[in-house]
Amino acid sequence: MRVVRFHAPRDVRVEDAPEPTAGPGDLLIRVRNCSVCGTDAKIWRSGHPDLRPPRVLGHEVAGEVVEVGEGADGWSVGDRVQVIAAIPDGTCHECRHGWQTVCPNQERIGYQHDGGFAELMRVPATVLAVGGVNRVPAGLSFAEASVAEPLSCVINGQEQARVGDGQTVVVVGAGPIGCLHVRLARARGAARVLLVELSRRRLALAAGLVAPDEAVAADATDTVAAVRGLTGGRGADVVIVAAGSGQAQEDALRMAARRGTVSFFGGLPRDRPTITCDANIVHYREVAIVGANGSSPDHNRRALGLIASGAVPVADLITHRLPLERAVEGIHTMTSGEAIKVTVEPAGPTGESAGRNR
Ligand SMILES: [Zn+2]
Repeated sequence: MRVVRFHAPRDVRVEDAPEPTAGPGDLLIRVRNCSVCGTDAKIWRSGHPDLRPPRVLGHEVAGEVVEVGEGADGWSVGDRVQVIAAIPDGTCHECRHGWQTVCPNQERIGYQHDGGFAELMRVPATVLAVGGVNRVPAGLSFAEASVAEPLSCVINGQEQARVGDGQTVVVVGAGPIGCLHVRLARARGAARVLLVELSRRRLALAAGLVAPDEAVAADATDTVAAVRGLTGGRGADVVIVAAGSGQAQEDALRMAARRGTVSFFGGLPRDRPTITCDANIVHYREVAIVGANGSSPDHNRRALGLIASGAVPVADLITHRLPLERAVEGIHTMTSGEAIKVTVEPAGPTGESAGRNR
């Protein structure tokens, strides 16, 4: 079968690989959509310590079951499924407290296990053991279902930041994750959502789709002053930094209202992980800083539900559909700012959603 495999930084190849099979407790799926994540671009550039090459990339996966391993009860050939990316062990201190997102024994699809940029993908028994396979509701396309994984991470971020009714929320970064943050904040009852982005091209594209109350171009504006100006000097209740920028994180602290929350949703480059934090903002203004590390199986289940119900539409965010042979190009298209969500279709266009996504 054809796969997209990481060998080394800047060496990702579309090549042939043996077809996997379903071992005991596993499923084998034919991948219909595997969408491109910002992390895929990071891996292309500089690899990842948890990723042992050669490795098939891709972790935003939806497809149909083609083989059911012995003991994988409840699943049948032909089932339409969406698969989690982060696999908690389900047994450690953190998992027993319901904190699967910070399970220290977590493994990930596309890192320790071959991912979805392939015609076929083995879903390990460990995924099924934690409830990590979800049925795609009738009427929902595989492409939309594949976006449940990034949305599940966004749900985790907004739960920790306690985004809710009547709030003013600032989202910094207008990539696919930023767009999902805008949509989810509205679904959670936020009164005003402001979108801040450095790239004019990406901001225009994103704002045209998710229609924030204000779009702030960070290249020409003092974004802190802009947010303060747009909030009557009070600042925002929640500031979500969906960009890998230390400067944006420092600015976010200054955008936050008294009693506000700042979410460091995006990680910083491994070689530049430090920022300067004005601790007195945290102290005197009682500002909370929260993190976000992926998502749990339950977040995935709920994300798929929000997409299926229409509470968080995603079809229009999928701007590019590419065959497997062009997956590497898709990774670059995503970082260029000309795309929001890029999805790879290893089995070719399904046709099932042609009317919905245009
Ligand atoms: Zn655990």
